[in-house]
Amino acid sequence: VPISRFQIDPLLSAFDQDQTLLTPNHRSAKVIMQAYANKKKVGEVWSRPQVFAIDIWLQQLWTKLSINGIKPFCKLQILDSFSEQCVWTEQLKASAERYPLLNLQETAAAVSYSYHLYNQWFLFEKLKPGDTKYSQNFSAFLYWSQRYKSFLEKHELIGLSDAILILIPSLHELVRFLPSRVLLVNFNDPPPLYARLIGTLEDVLEVSYHTRNTPGISSKTTPDEWQPNLNSVKRLQFPNLDTEIRACVSYSLERVRVNENEHVGIIIDHEKEHDFLLWKEFNRQAGHRNGDLSPTKAQYFNTFSSMQSLADAKPIELALSFLELNQTRIETHKFCHLLQCHQFALGGEELSARISLELLLRNNFSSTTRLGHLQSVMQREGKPYYCPHLSILLTKFSELSRRSKDFLPLSAWAELFTRQLELIGWPRFKSEDYLQWQKSLYQLSRTSSIVGKLDITGALRQLRLLLYQTPRPIIFNDELQISLVSLDEALDFDFDSLWLISADDQRLPCSISPDTFLPLSIQQEYDMPRSSYKLQLEQANLILTRLQQDTHEFILSHHKYEGDLEIRPSPLSSSIALSPIADIGSTNNLANPLNPVEFEYIQEPLCLPLTSVIGTGGTSLLSNQSNCPFKAFATHRLGAQKLPNLQPGLDAMNRGSALHLALEKLSTKLNHQEKILESSAATRQKFIDESIEPAIEQMHKQHPDVMTPTFSNLERIRLSNLLNSFLEFELSRSPFLVQGTEQQITWDHSLLSLNFRVDRIDKLNDGSLVLIDYKSGKKSSYRWFDDRPDDLQLPLYQLAIGSDIAHISGAFIYQVNIEKVTLAGATDKEDLHPDIKPLAQVRLFDGTWADLQERWNSIVIAMAAEFEKGLLAVAPARGNQTCQYCDLSSLCRINDQKNLLDEQDELTP
Ligand code: SF4
Repeated sequence: VPISRFQIDPLLSAFDQDQTLLTPNHRSAKVIMQAYANKKKVGEVWSRPQVFAIDIWLQQLWTKLSINGIKPFCKLQILDSFSEQCVWTEQLKASAERYPLLNLQETAAAVSYSYHLYNQWFLFEKLKPGDTKYSQNFSAFLYWSQRYKSFLEKHELIGLSDAILILIPSLHELVRFLPSRVLLVNFNDPPPLYARLIGTLEDVLEVSYHTRNTPGISSKTTPDEWQPNLNSVKRLQFPNLDTEIRACVSYSLERVRVNENEHVGIIIDHEKEHDFLLWKEFNRQAGHRNGDLSPTKAQYFNTFSSMQSLADAKPIELALSFLELNQTRIETHKFCHLLQCHQFALGGEELSARISLELLLRNNFSSTTRLGHLQSVMQREGKPYYCPHLSILLTKFSELSRRSKDFLPLSAWAELFTRQLELIGWPRFKSEDYLQWQKSLYQLSRTSSIVGKLDITGALRQLRLLLYQTPRPIIFNDELQISLVSLDEALDFDFDSLWLISADDQRLPCSISPDTFLPLSIQQEYDMPRSSYKLQLEQANLILTRLQQDTHEFILSHHKYEGDLEIRPSPLSSSIALSPIADIGSTNNLANPLNPVEFEYIQEPLCLPLTSVIGTGGTSLLSNQSNCPFKAFATHRLGAQKLPNLQPGLDAMNRGSALHLALEKLSTKLNHQEKILESSAATRQKFIDESIEPAIEQMHKQHPDVMTPTFSNLERIRLSNLLNSFLEFELSRSPFLVQGTEQQITWDHSLLSLNFRVDRIDKLNDGSLVLIDYKSGKKSSYRWFDDRPDDLQLPLYQLAIGSDIAHISGAFIYQVNIEKVTLAGATDKEDLHPDIKPLAQVRLFDGTWADLQERWNSIVIAMAAEFEKGLLAVAPARGNQTCQYCDLSSLCRINDQKNLLDEQDELTP
């Protein structure tokens, strides 16, 4: 059953008399139309009543006059808002030398708004442009406005507010084009330009007024202070926003349950994302789990202004990602996103090859690449990422744009984009979003004459801008009883009960936010919107007075704290005593949702023992086990891993492995400390240069796009600096000989067969060996003396080295990075290097190197046994600190576990 949201009855006689109804905005017109439609019986045929937002009506009037050849209307084309903004953007761009701007588009939108205010308050009559007391912003505004007007004049175009200025004095002669009777609905305190327009209309035709719950326009006076009706208005206070939202949802669900015809309003603040929070809470309390993370699908409530732009809609985002393949360089992560798509012409056949392709790209490509390069990769026959079908499709796709000229008007680009998307098979369904997309393409084409011919990048930029400015269509369900409205929107509706969230001193009255470009003193002098506290206070009083009039129950609530910040209630509600929360609807039972979810408890096994030999994972398998058993299980038994992030240029891993290779080459060439000592600076540099080249080659192979000659030289300089510092450190050590590098070791233990390489083994003067692992990172603590060390690499190295174990006198991490070069590890030796403390001086361990070896060995064996046992415990060794460096939190749900425990703590008395 449709819910009544607006009392249409007082307007029915106007419809019967065929009057034209004008509203201040599109939203009000829509509300009236919906209420009128609901009044009609199912199956009844009715003609569309004449209800228009005044701006739309004026645009239509202008077009009508133009079609009839009336001057000057037929000479000037009226612009839509996007075209207007394009003109402003072009003018701001052209004056960048005089007024450089960081964000052109946003400034253009702001200037466009200021220009309308300037016209609506007739400031061109009131301000002297040369007045020095006005700010720099205002002179920039005047300069841009001048350019804007000249452009429009030259191209015979006109913006809406300028059009109204021309229409007003002409109305007397245009009576035959006007309706005989006009009803103005909800026009309260219109800006001076509209007031003058209405005054002139009153002179030439019959104008009447309808204003809801408020004195008519003619009796416009500053409203008195709001007098809360204490029989219907209640005030509530909550400790925080969460509890406020929870109570509001509980109350609303109770109201609609008790009375199935009741219209319940919730007044929200869009900027604080109340709609999203409420939607989540409705999901929770109604016991539903909605997979679509968007409150725009009227499911529990209707909203009337979309917080999402059309570009945010998934199908539109996908279409844009396809079209961006036209660019010279494309963003690899967007391409990866397309690879996951199994709809359209991409189909599901190559899905597994596309997944392999994505993994290859994420591991080996940087954040941007060329489509041609991607195609050459996917054409490699026999590879798991071989995608012939996709490659053919992309060739056809790019051929369409290749055949076009480089510079075309937007209308031609819009046609090309449509053909390209048709080729892909987009869209699969003709949804509301798609219909809006079609309108947007039409709108884009209309701006051709303003922006001239553009290349494809410019055309895509314009399209993206338009889609970001176009609100996503909202799905309206007239059977839903709950409406989420802003303070302004609330004035368009009738409610049985109403709840105003966050009724605090920031919102009621709303803080001031004057226009950026017009002088503040003028804005305040002429009472322009949001320019003074006095105005905001008047506005808040007016809104509250109106809202309480027909509402049976009106709740104002606020929360006391936002984090550590104390929030004060609105001063306008101070005369209302606080109501106990338990008195409000069913909110006395907040802990129990209306439809409690039945939890199903599943006893998970604690262990899943390993049944066959595992031969992958290397040393990280045991380190992961030591850090968190679940992490080791998920990574090495389930193969779980985070998709690598694509980064611009080279990532830390690429750079680290290049350094690793260069160090290995250098240590092979200068494999004796004496040799380093004896070589001249020039010889050392020669060895360094030679060691660097294989590393550069490796990077070039992995990232041909990134490793341009200039970038390669930069990498050479970086590596050369690091290797020079490294040699300096080598000279400060006690004498050594590099006995081996990259020694391959297999450690077999029960069902584990782990393969790894020891980066380097040095022989000291006394014949003992030290094991070395290179690291380019800056990590300084490995917790080697804990029961569950962070890193079991060195402990495993010394155990796995086999018969040589007795000859090992220490194990070290060789840290080489731009901040420092050092050795960190464990030994009994006192003279290895001044930076290295022998174990006898280490506070955290009480024992010798042999004791440590014994301890490490037992830890390694214990971790191996735990892994084999298949222990599944989500038990990070060092709590948050361990989880901080782990990517599996969404899989192990440690955070859910914490939240659950916190909730239990809260509930425990
Ligand atoms: S996030 Fe923490 S608890 Fe979860 S798997 Fe990783 S280390 Fe273990």
